Amino acid sequence: MFEIFESDLLGRNGIIHSTKGKIRTPSFVPVVHPEVSKNLINVVDFQSKFDVDLIITSSYILKRRFSDSEINLHDLTNFQGPIMTDSGAYQSLVYGEIDLTPENVIEFQEMIGSDFAVPLDIPISKTDSYEIAKYKVQETILRNQKVPSLIKSQKTIWVGPIQGGRFLDLVKKSAIEANKVDCFNMFAIGSVVELMNDYNYDILIDIILTAKQILNPAKPIHLFGAGHPSMFPLIVAAGCDTFDSAAYALYAQDDRYMTTNYTYQLADLNEFPCNCPICSNINPKDLLKLEKFERKKLLSAHNLYVCQTEIKHIRSSISSGTFWNLLESRSRVHPSLRRGFDRLQKYLRQLSKNTASTKKKGILFTSESDLNRPEILLHKNRLNNLSTKKRKKLLLISILNDEIKETYQIYKIIRNYVNKHPNLIKKFEIWIVAPYFGLLPIEISEVYPLTQSVLAEDISKEKMQAIIYDSINLVKKWSFQEIFLLGEIKEFISLEKEINLLSDLKTKIKTFGFSINEDNFEQLSAIFDIIQV
Ligand SMILES: [Zn+2]
Repeated sequence: MFEIFESDLLGRNGIIHSTKGKIRTPSFVPVVHPEVSKNLINVVDFQSKFDVDLIITSSYILKRRFSDSEINLHDLTNFQGPIMTDSGAYQSLVYGEIDLTPENVIEFQEMIGSDFAVPLDIPISKTDSYEIAKYKVQETILRNQKVPSLIKSQKTIWVGPIQGGRFLDLVKKSAIEANKVDCFNMFAIGSVVELMNDYNYDILIDIILTAKQILNPAKPIHLFGAGHPSMFPLIVAAGCDTFDSAAYALYAQDDRYMTTNYTYQLADLNEFPCNCPICSNINPKDLLKLEKFERKKLLSAHNLYVCQTEIKHIRSSISSGTFWNLLESRSRVHPSLRRGFDRLQKYLRQLSKNTASTKKKGILFTSESDLNRPEILLHKNRLNNLSTKKRKKLLLISILNDEIKETYQIYKIIRNYVNKHPNLIKKFEIWIVAPYFGLLPIEISEVYPLTQSVLAEDISKEKMQAIIYDSINLVKKWSFQEIFLLGEIKEFISLEKEINLLSDLKTKIKTFGFSINEDNFEQLSAIFDIIQV
């Protein structure tokens, strides 16, 4: 049912197959009112004009209006692609006008022809105590367990709700139990809307990753209720394959104009920073003059274009291997997004599992947070498991210099000189100490992503020292008899003064400091001549 083609961080480019058509992932799922006239955008246009694959609508509203009549969801909404329905639990909690039971919720969603349906869960509110949340999770688990005995239609894909909110042990328990229910071919994480409204993206990341660690990776994960497009990359990177939002329409109700990163009041705009079919045909002043309903329609159409554009941006960046850069740039938009991004980096081990070991593009290091990229962790893991060829001597060439921005050329020159010194290769392990990646054996300096990297920013002294510290500790692991350290050694020496880093290597280490740049490469060759003897 779920085919995955490419992945980066925990984002997955793939296709969810349903009887009503394919859904590309990651996918933005617009919330639609089941009564056509209540929508600002004609639902017929969702596929043809907005390229939307999946919509979601409220089974609560449907049940309240149509519980006695035979209705078909696709005919009613005019949408012929796949439709997801929620269980109605949330609205029932707020309005409580109709009686929902686990049985009638399943029966109703099957009857109306829902393609993705959710059994009756109990969402958790931010004011719930731990005891109340625990009760709600246990009740949701019991109801989930009964789903296989209640379903009749094979056409509906059942989505297992995960509850627990900010109580991560409850999220974990909820995910463990939902994972055991065979008929769930997709999962949906709930109880996060209030957190998002409060900009608690760090807690949101904890919740998603807690569930993600447990849920079957072959099945897609939905997030109930995302918000502004600026947070889409964050939730995709955390592992959400689809997520719904009504923000495109809600914002339009208040004359709010979305851009990828920000929201503007329509009255504050002199021109539209967008070229969608709406914005290229009208200016803000004329739009303001339009009758209210007409204005909202156009604004919500623009907002939907922005959401769809961002999701396509994400899919392209996963495909091209630049998803981290997109995520990093979006995280600079708002402090709470930054906190979410920082929290995500605590799950590096998990992120690196899914990150491709080769990509179409080299890595562009643009800031120090790139030191936390999964590719660097993957490299360090490989290095830790490296078996040396038992050469007793080590040649350590440091290129830790602020001026070095592209390593490709430097590695190439070093390799050329090394190749001219066959005795060197016979006697020495030859490792480079490089910015970002730290230690790298010269034999693999042509391997992705080590060679293709481009650096934009100088690394701080603190981070540079961390690279040296890690490198030397790794060197100590292999007990070389003799070590030659050459090139950019200024930071090595200042670190040595601070913490005696090299003290237990002192008897065997010889240093040759010089600046690594084009004028000095001859010096490298001269040193090779001396030490290879
Ligand atoms: Zn626009």
